[in-house]
Amino acid sequence: MVPLGHQNGQISRKSEPMDTNLIPLHPELQTQPSVYIPEEFIPLAEDPNSLTSQMAARFKVDPRTFINWRWQMKHQVTEGEQAAAILDLKEQETQGFDQLKHLFNAGITPYYMGLMVPRLEDDECPIRLQALPRVEELKDSLGVADPLSEVAHSPVREVVQVYPDRVAFCVAQLCPVYCRYCFRKRRDEEIGLHFNRAIIDKGIAYIAANPAIRDVLITGGDSFVASDSAIEGLLQRIRAIPHVEIIRFGTRTPVTLPYRVTDRLAKILAKYHPVFVNTHFNCAEEITPEAALAVANLVNNGIPVGNQAVLLKGVNDSPERMMALCRSLLKIRARPYYVFHPHSVQGTEHLRVSVRRGLEVMKSLRGNITGMGIPAYIMDTPSGKIPLQHNYILGIDGEDLILETIRGEIWREKDVY
Ligand code: SF4
Repeated sequence: MVPLGHQNGQISRKSEPMDTNLIPLHPELQTQPSVYIPEEFIPLAEDPNSLTSQMAARFKVDPRTFINWRWQMKHQVTEGEQAAAILDLKEQETQGFDQLKHLFNAGITPYYMGLMVPRLEDDECPIRLQALPRVEELKDSLGVADPLSEVAHSPVREVVQVYPDRVAFCVAQLCPVYCRYCFRKRRDEEIGLHFNRAIIDKGIAYIAANPAIRDVLITGGDSFVASDSAIEGLLQRIRAIPHVEIIRFGTRTPVTLPYRVTDRLAKILAKYHPVFVNTHFNCAEEITPEAALAVANLVNNGIPVGNQAVLLKGVNDSPERMMALCRSLLKIRARPYYVFHPHSVQGTEHLRVSVRRGLEVMKSLRGNITGMGIPAYIMDTPSGKIPLQHNYILGIDGEDLILETIRGEIWREKDVY
């Protein structure tokens, strides 16, 4: 891994040699855009009032082309000039594109660009904050390259094991959008990690040799940025390991590239049940009819969908914004599962929020939305996840527990001994 370093509060990338033992990008991803058009998205392409059609018009492309996920990947916005053709960039964003070029990947699907507010005065846009590079990323006194010490927790390359019964298998490197707060930014620098056969072979061998592993999380990068056949090939190999009970995917495609989450892909996943998908909406603005259709494709094929948000300043760090997110998730049948406290990853100081603020935001949900809509607030650490929550147990008085109700009243409850 290529570590990042600090110099006088400025972030710099150390010039360590690249690992040259990797084979190139998976051939499936080097092919021309496929002509496959997902049928279920065609009504959105044919409706002139749909978000898809409006976005396609902004990008001057036929809506039927716009719903092709490979076209989206090939037309990721990576440069400031491209972004400036679609949006009025703020000074911090223009400088971000220029000055971060050689530090962290920038790449945004036309679809996700289309969700951004095109013109801003003083306000911020939660979509822009997540995806456009900003010059503030150069100043960060706390962040580190690998805040969860994943490299140290990898018994073989790209297999991260913190708990005995489960592993995260980082098979993917590419993402439809490179989120500015990503805790795996360190992987940007290396090439050839995406669905790399040598890495997959070694990872599968490790999982097969360790019968304690019951749960495999396929992640990356974005685990859905691969052909259906590459994903199915991987599933076949993992499902063939007798002690693996459940398979989970981590993907942000319902948010950043919903056209990838086709009924055809969902039917492939469903052949290898139990399969779960965790996605990653951070604000209600991301929940569009297109995203809802992507989630519906999964859920309608019996694949439970959970949502793992990250608490981010200006994106979801207020009771109103978090409530809007959780309510919108329930409406599309994506269950709010976790809200992660932001990792101290380099270049993200401007997006971090205090734990005290996080507790306030999460407490505000209690009593105002069904418990099913309240995600667990989590601090992830190299030693595992720590649940963070307002303390409702005020003390013990003899045989009584002294509790605080969600309305702030005192409640005594006799405990059983
Ligand atoms: S999609 Fe996930 S892995 Fe990719 S940049 Fe965003 S947070 Fe990181």
